[in-house]
Amino acid sequence: MILEIRAVEPFHKNGFVLGCEETRQGIVIDPGDETPALLQAVEQHGLSIRYILLTHAHLDHITGVGAAKSALGAPVGLHEDDSFLYDAVVQQGQMFGLRVEPQPKVDFFYDGEGPWRFGTYGAWVYHTPGHCPGGVCLAVGREGENARTLFVGDTLFAGSIGRTDLPGGDLQTLLSSIKNVLFKFPDETVVYSGHGEPTTIGRERRTNPFLNS
Ligand SMILES: [Zn+2]
Ligand SMILES: [Zn+2]
Repeated sequence: MILEIRAVEPFHKNGFVLGCEETRQGIVIDPGDETPALLQAVEQHGLSIRYILLTHAHLDHITGVGAAKSALGAPVGLHEDDSFLYDAVVQQGQMFGLRVEPQPKVDFFYDGEGPWRFGTYGAWVYHTPGHCPGGVCLAVGREGENARTLFVGDTLFAGSIGRTDLPGGDLQTLLSSIKNVLFKFPDETVVYSGHGEPTTIGRERRTNPFLNS
């Protein structure tokens, strides 16, 4: 699978371009301020982007939706329970003292697991609330194969977990999403978080201090 990751100031939030080597179809996950670099990667790999998929609607994950959508012409998907955050992106910016442009309407809400297909790959969507009500994780892999790569947004980080002090956040809900959804994946599953370095399910299961107390 083609995988490109970009992150820029001020949030150092990871944006992703995923692509199928054979068909050159791809998806973009969480386009934020690093969207120009994501678009460059799309072009370098000659990808045709089928979907823009959002893990959740905190501003750092959505400030580039408008730019990505107009450059790529792909529909934007979100979990419905994060609509209130998505629609308040300008106010979210004000909380951080940032001027943020309103973003275009999302094109569809996730209904069920999917998959949302790009070439020989699919992205399966799992609702993992707690960091925010409409948080999802995307499990990406080839159809017919078991191996999945997880894109977890801000639900789980290498050695940490998502904050739950923002509107709609809840710690018990977050812990249960991690234990009942993410930890159902095998130890070797690679996890890409919304911020910081990748990890694996096994490593977090064994060493994450927030899940072992
Ligand atoms: Zn977030
Ligand atoms: Zn974030």
